[in-house]
Amino acid sequence: MRIGIIGAGQLGQMLGFAARDLGVECRFVDPSDAPPASVCGDVIRAPFDDGDALAELAETCDVITYEFENVPVAALQKIEDRVPVYPPAAALGQSQDRLIEKQLFERLDIPLHGYRVIDSREDIIAAIPDLGLPLVLKTRRLGYDGKGQFIVRAGDDADEAWETLGQDSLIAEQWVPFDYEISCIGVRNVDGDVAIYPLARNVHDGGILSTSRSPVDAPELAARAEDYVRRILDHLDYVGVLALEMFVWDGNLFANEFAPRVHNSGHWTIEGSETSQFENHLRAIMNQPLGSVAPVGHAGMVNLIGEIPDAARSLEDGVLHDYGKAPRPGRKLGHITVTAETSTRRDELVDIISRTVT
Ligand code: AMP
Repeated sequence: MRIGIIGAGQLGQMLGFAARDLGVECRFVDPSDAPPASVCGDVIRAPFDDGDALAELAETCDVITYEFENVPVAALQKIEDRVPVYPPAAALGQSQDRLIEKQLFERLDIPLHGYRVIDSREDIIAAIPDLGLPLVLKTRRLGYDGKGQFIVRAGDDADEAWETLGQDSLIAEQWVPFDYEISCIGVRNVDGDVAIYPLARNVHDGGILSTSRSPVDAPELAARAEDYVRRILDHLDYVGVLALEMFVWDGNLFANEFAPRVHNSGHWTIEGSETSQFENHLRAIMNQPLGSVAPVGHAGMVNLIGEIPDAARSLEDGVLHDYGKAPRPGRKLGHITVTAETSTRRDELVDIISRTVT
């Protein structure tokens, strides 16, 4: 069995390590020099949508997957008649456009906060009475880690917002003064078996994930979130891992977005779950029985962004994952996971590590 992975970044690397433990070979496509996953297998150096590279991957691999959601759907469609591609290209397409994604949530009766389609500066002004202020303007496509977003705090901001983002298709969203953010990660195999990980509670800084903690002591919210993820997985006839990100506000859940891939808010599963999200993604796409998603204690994850300070290498508690990337401001270079017997101890450790590495 050989698995082809489009993208050889840190998610590809962690998939590659899980594949190694399952005795499975990986081959990647990635345009960068020495990407993180090059330590896990052969990398075909080419753009993600290069027809020849994808054809070679399709010819030499038994199943194809991808580690990031901006792979062009058309590129996947060119190979899916030759080799299974999971998650299905159609599911990827639904996640690539925020408007289509929101329409999917609506169709599946998954609650979400208010939004409007924005095609002009005037539309921004017109959205203010409906959505209130502040509102957040987002590009419909290719946004990630808070990029492609502009917070409109007053009607006077409309000009600058339009100048900054107006060349792209946009939506405006109601600003949610959430109590906290969660993600719910689910996995579905080719036979349709589903497993759902315990919720993670996430903190973002400047739009980039900073910490995740799991499980969350909110069984009723977890049951609702699980139900929403199951609806998406079944509706899309999905195969692989999927992450649904939601806001919790006054006891209500509001779906923000889903990622059709292994997710940063699930990195804690490597040490904090009986089966990691990476292993379960591989099992799902190889149509093997899914592994247990039972938690191993209380887990916390701290992202290492911009640099990995020396102190991160000599911590008493915590497992360091260094992706081997060159330091650059705002770049995810690694993460540290802790596990503890109680949530109180886990939170103490996350706080100590966060203070040490920032
Ligand atoms: P996104 O790219 O949509 O995941 O946004 C990145 C982060 O920005 C989210 O995880 C939130 O912390 C924040 N954010 C995005 N949209 C909203 C919103 N409508 N209301 C409040 N915070 C938001």
